[in-house]
Amino acid sequence: LTADYRARDAAHHIHPFSDMKSLNAEGSRVIVRGEGSWIYDSDGNRILDGMAGLWCVNIGHGRKEIADAIQRQMAEISYYNTFFKTTHPPAVALAETLARLTPTQFNHVFFVNSGSEANDTVIRMVRHYWATLGKPRKTVIVARWNAYHGSTMGGGSLGGMKPIHSQGGLPIPDIHHIAQPYWFGEGGDMTPDEFGVAAARALETAIDEIGEDRIGAFIAEPIQGAGGVIIPPATYWPEIARILKDREILLVADEVITGFGRTGNWFGSETFGIEADLMPIAKGLSSGYLPIGGVMVSDKVAEVLIGPGGEFNHGFTYSAHPVAAAAALENLRIIEDDRLVERVRDDIGPYLQERWRALGEHPLVGEARMTGLMGALELVPDKPSRKSAFPDTGKVGTIARDFSFRNGLVMRAVRDSLILSPPFTLSHEEADYLVATARKTLDDTLAEVKRLG
Ligand code: PLP
Repeated sequence: LTADYRARDAAHHIHPFSDMKSLNAEGSRVIVRGEGSWIYDSDGNRILDGMAGLWCVNIGHGRKEIADAIQRQMAEISYYNTFFKTTHPPAVALAETLARLTPTQFNHVFFVNSGSEANDTVIRMVRHYWATLGKPRKTVIVARWNAYHGSTMGGGSLGGMKPIHSQGGLPIPDIHHIAQPYWFGEGGDMTPDEFGVAAARALETAIDEIGEDRIGAFIAEPIQGAGGVIIPPATYWPEIARILKDREILLVADEVITGFGRTGNWFGSETFGIEADLMPIAKGLSSGYLPIGGVMVSDKVAEVLIGPGGEFNHGFTYSAHPVAAAAALENLRIIEDDRLVERVRDDIGPYLQERWRALGEHPLVGEARMTGLMGALELVPDKPSRKSAFPDTGKVGTIARDFSFRNGLVMRAVRDSLILSPPFTLSHEEADYLVATARKTLDDTLAEVKRLG
């Protein structure tokens, strides 16, 4: 069965972000079922989903309530649009619920289907906002190296990933990248707090160089996710706030990963004291059960966008798709009723963090960090000196990731680090299994690194 799937997959399927030659040589993993924190492959193996899919299945796999909500909505009306003065009950209810759950300045939402579309929407929205205010020159958006904001023309341009920029003519004009607050990799001799301030000041430098009259917005993830769970030093966000205070520059907090409880609060903005003007959301909005995203729009921006002359010529056939919206509503109901954000903050979060950080004692681990349920293990060849990296960047990370999968735990490799983002429903026993499996993975990887010399 597995061989059959693999052969047919190799014959016709181009996978995202995959080296197709090696994928087809090894054969893809065929995942056939999910339940709670676990996924099952076509050979019957049970694997703990330490990434919650792609940071999205926050309520765990296989929740029947969501399937039922989807089915109910399908039977009412499975599709209608929200263009040209129409709406439908799931869109109304979801917009209202989002206004209630998001930080107070957000009372409006523009619906999209993915995080990438949310960020493309942000680019147009920022430029349209300033143009409407009579400042059409404010087109530049400052973003950060190693950020991930999606892979469309806009999202891929805002992101700061060289492999993405190297294909398809990115970045588009007027996107400027500055340093990231990655203390472990780039902090040199500075303390984390010193480095946090220095990294934030890259924004001030950019404003001085480009000019406030040209910059429309600064965009950042509260914690850089796909870049390797880069948790900023405590000084970083306050310094960004100081720099942006009284400036005519919008702040965009990309909460596609950090939204809906991942950091132990409803939004990463609350964890880090960020007051954003726009907030892209996706993933955890529906726990990945169906594709849906949005851009939360603050009152300040909404006033311009929905005021006279503010018609925004933008939208998608599936903006606020009724069935996806119904799935999102049921997902948010579950998160609220099961108190899953509180669970991340007070229970499973601290429980896993303590055990995860203890992995920092392992000879292969230079740093073990975690906020809420987002963590990373930095793998290093020479533990006392965090500066030294493995010669062939990414090789050891990939070896470790593959061991992890074979050992029964999904972790993802970013360069030579392993990252983690499990469902909020993870039990204590599952957390113990996760940490024990991660430890075995580190032992296996260390043995392999020694064997390879
Ligand atoms: N923004 C962030 C912070 C992300 O992590 C991602 C995806 O990982 C995106 C945007 C893009 O979302 P999507 O893959 O739904 O287009």
